[in-house]
Amino acid sequence: SLEARDIRMRFGPVEVLRGADLAAQAGEVVCIVGPSGSGKSTLLRCLNGLETRTSGDVLLGGEDTSAMDINLLRQRIGMVFQHFNLFPHKTALQNITLALCNVKKIPKDRAAGIALQRLRDVGLADRAGHRPTQLSGGQQQRVAIARALAMEPQVMLFDEVTSALDPELVKGVLRLMADLARGGMTMIVVTHEMGFARQVADRVVFMDAGVVVESGPPEQIFDAPRSPRLKKFLSQVL
Ligand code: ATP
Ligand code: MG
Repeated sequence: SLEARDIRMRFGPVEVLRGADLAAQAGEVVCIVGPSGSGKSTLLRCLNGLETRTSGDVLLGGEDTSAMDINLLRQRIGMVFQHFNLFPHKTALQNITLALCNVKKIPKDRAAGIALQRLRDVGLADRAGHRPTQLSGGQQQRVAIARALAMEPQVMLFDEVTSALDPELVKGVLRLMADLARGGMTMIVVTHEMGFARQVADRVVFMDAGVVVESGPPEQIFDAPRSPRLKKFLSQVL
């Protein structure tokens, strides 16, 4: 499980997280939706230490993460971004083995075996030797997901991972994420894909202006929204 309590964060004078709470139980899929600038990405980044919060607690499997080694924390909480952030001069396989060797200190040949298995999982075993420029955006994103999974994280964070993709490539990535969810992965997913949130999420969290305004099962959030802000948001995106 991953739990964030009363997270506050400011960029200079601007408080962009103003006491945000979030929790994903083991095996749960939580989707975060909300307008641009509401703090969704910042909240995700606070969870795995990419951003330093002003205050608030983050608990992983019930354990306070503030004293945890940052590298260990990032191993345990995998993250995938909108722009895949693959190393351009490395192959798909090398993109995955790099962290396995450097961070997890796994020997090269064993790392290659793990990487190939993860590429197989995302349907790209035959692209192991390709560099990012030789892959479609959807394939690059699946490599990025395979790379995160190779670290065997306890939780996966996804930040708008389909937003930069051509429409015809979105489905394959969403299907992969739905498969992961079915496999029991604990996931926190920031997304504009309301169909995905409705179908895959156990719980949907609506953020606005740095706080969680409303959260609940997808049917409640999408079909019976309570707060005026959520109603307004839905009228704009659905
Ligand atoms: P989007 O849907 O557009 O991705 P978001 O909900 O992810 O939006 P954040 O990226 O978390 O929003 O940004 C929240 C607020 O923090 C915004 O007002 C943004 O301008 C501000 N912000 C984000 N990163 C920085 C930064 N590095 N320096 C200063 N302000 C920032
Ligand atoms: Mg964002």
